[in-house]
Amino acid sequence: MSVTISKKMCMIGDFGVGKTSLIRRFVDRQFSDQYLSTVGVKISRKSVELEDVKQRENVTAQLLIWDLEGHTKFKGIAPTYLQGASGVLIVADVSRSETIERISEHIQLYSSVNPKGVIIIALNKVDLVDEEKLALLVEIAHSTSQDKVVAVYTTSAKTGKDVDEIFHKLAYTMVEQA
Ligand code: GDP
Repeated sequence: MSVTISKKMCMIGDFGVGKTSLIRRFVDRQFSDQYLSTVGVKISRKSVELEDVKQRENVTAQLLIWDLEGHTKFKGIAPTYLQGASGVLIVADVSRSETIERISEHIQLYSSVNPKGVIIIALNKVDLVDEEKLALLVEIAHSTSQDKVVAVYTTSAKTGKDVDEIFHKLAYTMVEQA
């Protein structure tokens, strides 16, 4: 038996950390260095097949991925953007440590609207730093993130590293908790 479950999820993170690029990599299977954002909120749709969720044979999670685009990225996040989101990918850029320091603020913002929502962190652009630096940043991310965080992944929208995995994990956890 297979059922389809629709879930809204959001992308949060400072400007330029790679939120839109991660979606493009996951949904369109591509990466663009010259990505030009348009304006407003963009909602991308992607189905993820999940196995063995709550003893069900198959669940198709229909992800509705909300992303801010263009100038709305600077205006701050409206509550309607976050409302009804079962989960969030909080994205930081490993080449800019200040974006990692801001993770806890993003966690607070998201959980103030969705106290039971699923939170996963993406430390993105790992293609830009060496292993040693990365290990340190992962440690910092773990210590700044609270127990509300389900997992921390190191991703690259450029190479595709762990991009499918992180969306899959979020989809699985949102469906499991439903
Ligand atoms: P957003 O503002 O968080 O949506 O960030 P964007 O997705 O628009 O990306 C900002 C810039 O970072 C763009 O020039 C992307 O090409 C670049 N970028 C995004 N992800 C990666 C990555 O994993 N590695 C590298 N090297 N660049 C990335």
